[in-house]
Amino acid sequence: MNLFVANWKMNKTREESRDYARRLGEILGDRDPRVELVIAPPYTALDAARDPGGRWSLAGQNVAAETEGAYTGEVSARMLADAGCRYVIVGHSERRRLFGEESGVLARKLTRVREAGLTPIYCLGETEEEREEGLTATVLVAQVETLGGDPDDAPLVVAYEPVWAIGTGKAATVEDARSARVHLAELLSARRNARILYGGSVTTENARALLDESGVDGFLIGGASLKPAAFAAISGIGGDS
Ligand code: PEP
Repeated sequence: MNLFVANWKMNKTREESRDYARRLGEILGDRDPRVELVIAPPYTALDAARDPGGRWSLAGQNVAAETEGAYTGEVSARMLADAGCRYVIVGHSERRRLFGEESGVLARKLTRVREAGLTPIYCLGETEEEREEGLTATVLVAQVETLGGDPDDAPLVVAYEPVWAIGTGKAATVEDARSARVHLAELLSARRNARILYGGSVTTENARALLDESGVDGFLIGGASLKPAAFAAISGIGGDS
């Protein structure tokens, strides 16, 4: 089943989140969406973004690398599970770039996520410089290595998010997304239960071609997911931007 993840980043108060959830619920109605929907709100809005009807699930946008203790400002995987999350985004390029998260800390976060019974949405992708130097494949290999300690049979979501495409309005071409998907599928061939998403400037305009022609299993969506109608439309459910 295709998977569509709304990454709200640092946006929306609880009231705005409740409005969004109400509107998305109206758009979905009681139809079976035939896709899996996930919302990753800020921690403070996890409860407000919940669907009592279970038509979408929740993801944390980040998680602590430690289990518990004196780590001011951190939120543990167990707390996220307790708050109703099913997924956690790990390794988003904003975490890697702005907060210096590298492979060691990401591997520890992945372990914590598994201990709490959650599923990681592990993000990877090359920067513009790496792409220009022809290093995309090498970068993907190195970033997949971070998953080395993750159990092969556990459900896994990997989001190919080229850094140059995130929040820039410059989405990958269908060919770029397809070739990254094919490469990642090879690298993850031992994983029976892995889904590969694309993320980076997905909009209502480019979603259909990217999904149908690149063979990805869905999208991780930032900016365009902030409006419920656009998130629904990108997910193929109807509504408009
Ligand atoms: C993201 O934050 O993961 C993302 C893909 O953002 P955007 O859709 O805004 O490029």
